[in-house]
Amino acid sequence: MISVKEAISIINNNIPKSKEIQLSLLDAQKHILAQDVISAINMPPFRQSAMDGYALHMHESLSYKLIGEIKAGDSHKMSLMPGEAIKIFTGAAVPDSTNAVMQIEKTSVTNEILTLNETINLNTNIRPIGEQIKANTIALSKGTKLNAAAIGFLAGLGITSVTVYKNPSVGILVTGNELVKPGNELEYGKIYESNSIMLQAALLDSGIKKCNLYEVNDDFLNTKNSIEKALKENDILLISGGISVGDYDFVKGALEELQVETLFYKVNQKPGKPLLVGKIEEKLVFALPGNPAASLSCYYIYVKPVLKKIAGELDENSSTKKEIKHDFTVNNTRSQFLKAAFLDNKVSVLSHQQSSMLNTFALANCLLHLPEGNYELKKGSKVDIYHI
Ligand code: AMP
Ligand code: MG
Repeated sequence: MISVKEAISIINNNIPKSKEIQLSLLDAQKHILAQDVISAINMPPFRQSAMDGYALHMHESLSYKLIGEIKAGDSHKMSLMPGEAIKIFTGAAVPDSTNAVMQIEKTSVTNEILTLNETINLNTNIRPIGEQIKANTIALSKGTKLNAAAIGFLAGLGITSVTVYKNPSVGILVTGNELVKPGNELEYGKIYESNSIMLQAALLDSGIKKCNLYEVNDDFLNTKNSIEKALKENDILLISGGISVGDYDFVKGALEELQVETLFYKVNQKPGKPLLVGKIEEKLVFALPGNPAASLSCYYIYVKPVLKKIAGELDENSSTKKEIKHDFTVNNTRSQFLKAAFLDNKVSVLSHQQSSMLNTFALANCLLHLPEGNYELKKGSKVDIYHI
């Protein structure tokens, strides 16, 4: 049985190559740019008023002759002599012959004569052409993650689509005779199937908006056929359950018959010991244990970082060292991932750590990783946590 560290390193050596895709701006939300985006235009594209007020062709006196107005969106041009002014509005094009905009609150007008309440400096309240970005320069560089501001910024430059790293297609295959879809009657001996929706929700957090779902009963041939179909239709396959040593666990055998190379089977960890990771062509298969908390822990520790890397995110360390809030006794031959809460810079272990239980996982915001052994952790000791 390999260690968590070895498992992570094996996966890192087998991550499928990132692919590029052109997406419309909104579809590209949360994606990472695979190419620099160049602006075709200056922003602003013309000298622009930053205020509602008066554009002035400045001269010595504080009095100006008003000769017209330009609203936002107007395209007519005007030529002003020294001592002349026009009314202007925020976002409107400022005439070339004007050299400052006085905000309306600092003026008065009588009989088409504008009087400034105070002196004004050259270029006040005029946004110069290209102040934010010049034409033919980089608006956003390769590697930038597109948030709402980025999408707004690019749309403001007239850009409608971008080249980003493509999210892989992901399939989720659940196994188990005992599973019933929520919404149906629960017969004696059955449980509600919750892993597929839980994994879909986790995938959504990673920016995977849609995945393909498959279900199979505990039957070897059906399992094999379903896995074969799912492998054809997806780049990454998550399988839930059927990977332990029970008589009706058929996933490992099916993967072997399908020539999926086992990268590893079983990790010295709790929960999630029966995890199998396989590879066929460029595709990765994660056979996750069926117990819901084990399944989700394995997702966070092993699957999520892979999706991040394929999506072009930098190779950042996913775990960080934090102080534990209380004493804790470790007594385990396997390294543990504990549902934990990180609050006020301290981490505390939650109750209900069993791999079948999600009730406290629902309140967790991290997994606390403890190496195997028999030892006492004192309050304030540094421990490794994975933010989830
Ligand atoms: P398995 O890994 O198939 O042996 O399943 C381990 C435990 O997880 C069993 O108690 C299963 O009933 C439960 N389980 C398996 N798959 C699911 C699922 N999709 N949703 C909820 N519980 C599951
Ligand atoms: Mg099962």
